[in-house]
Amino acid sequence: GDFANEVDVLVVGGGPGGYVAAIRAAQLGRDVTLVEKGALGGVCLNVGCIPSKALISAAELAERMKQAGNMGVVAENVSVDFLKMQEWKNGVVKQLTKGVGQLLKSNKITVVQGEAYFSGTDQVRVATEESSETYKFNDCIVATGSSSAELKALPFDGERIISSTEALNLQQVPKNMIVVGGGYIGLELGTAYAKLGSDVTILEGMDQLLPGTDPKVVRIITKNLKKQKVTFKTNAFVKKADVHGDSVTVTADVKGEEQTFTADVVLVSVGRHPNTSDLGLEQIGVELDDKGFVKVNEKMQTNVDHIYAIGDITGPPMLAHKASYEGKVAAEVIAGEASAVDYRAMPYVVFSDPEIAYTGLSEEEAKAEGYDVTSFRFPFPANGRALSMNAADGFVNVVADRETQRILGVQIVGPEASSLIAEAVMAIEFGATAEDIALTIHAHPTLPEVIQEAAEGILGHAIHTA
Ligand code: FAD
Repeated sequence: GDFANEVDVLVVGGGPGGYVAAIRAAQLGRDVTLVEKGALGGVCLNVGCIPSKALISAAELAERMKQAGNMGVVAENVSVDFLKMQEWKNGVVKQLTKGVGQLLKSNKITVVQGEAYFSGTDQVRVATEESSETYKFNDCIVATGSSSAELKALPFDGERIISSTEALNLQQVPKNMIVVGGGYIGLELGTAYAKLGSDVTILEGMDQLLPGTDPKVVRIITKNLKKQKVTFKTNAFVKKADVHGDSVTVTADVKGEEQTFTADVVLVSVGRHPNTSDLGLEQIGVELDDKGFVKVNEKMQTNVDHIYAIGDITGPPMLAHKASYEGKVAAEVIAGEASAVDYRAMPYVVFSDPEIAYTGLSEEEAKAEGYDVTSFRFPFPANGRALSMNAADGFVNVVADRETQRILGVQIVGPEASSLIAEAVMAIEFGATAEDIALTIHAHPTLPEVIQEAAEGILGHAIHTA
């Protein structure tokens, strides 16, 4: 139509950033309209966190059953019905995305299906297949997320050269898979397919998998990858891919030597780009950085102060909980509250085998910030629960300030690290000292006792250590 729809708060994008921001703004009494061009739930619920964790859990179960012999569980002829697994995974996704729709509805949020484009500093055009309408807003929260980056040498064809989106929706387990990029997404999906029976080769350009992660942590993972028959090459630069019939050959420069790898599919997971190029933000004067991420302050405001940006489009870390956290802050600022972001206790999780999770500062980062650092590492093999779960691998490392013994950071690699990190996140958020954790009674036998022992280690009196 020609007239503009007048709305109060307009949220663009219905991922974990946008839908959470919309609900929080509605809770605070604002009238909210949310525009989504695809499916509610965004990348995370539809083609990210949730489907990947579903496949990882199913693959993990298959793997554990095959290896349960040493626990006296004889599970012979364990097999995988992959179509059934996909069906189950799709059911999980459907249940959650339907739930988001219901939540928006019960919070009286208007959902508009279509693609938004900024046509002014207080308005967007929303295009659907049939029509296009203008929405004038008082405040806007932009949460359009990110998309898989493409490699010029290996353009996606959706079939042989694929992104994580297609990798999550394969209809059969590939016999061989090449993963280009050993970041967390490539590592998680590569490991899952290996457990389902694929022969997986990971090619990483840097000198270790999970570039930027503590090498002591990564070593636990790479040792395990070898057991799972996942091959990986570091310092491997992919130069080209040739698709011939139903296979693809990748040519790479590995430590200065040309090598070729052939597989059914190549998963390219080399990072993600912000969805800011077709949005009209620059045209209305919203500043982006040189990579296309929207520049924001600690209130999530762009330089156009009634336009906010949250989630993946504001830059790394590209994590769902970071998007939701920023969404709540933006909604609270819009509602007049004194809210601002503080990322000190951000959890980072990799659903590798075993899992990795960390928060706060690493020893190196803490030293670089000028702290006099003390740290203590306690191993999972010394923990009764880890042993009794047949999952005793890895460690918890606690980093503290030597003088005040305040916890600065915690790194975990081991069973259920993704859940264990919550205690460390809370310790840092509350400004806890090693003594606070040491004096907290931890149930026995449980995995969190490893965090308690590491904290006692900082104080010089861990019990179960030589
Ligand atoms: P998105 O989730 O990308 O949502 C943006 C939404 O905006 C989309 O629905 C899109 O359709 C819509 N949109 C875009 N442009 C427009 C427009 N012009 N008009 C209207 N709508 C528009 N994170 C974790 O924390 N834990 C994990 O375990 C994890 N696993 C992942 C696994 C994979 C394979 C991938 C790819 C990602 C994973 N992530 C994980 C990252 C996580 O998915 C993202 O950080 C998160 O989805 C970002 O949320 P967002 O709201 O910023 O954007």
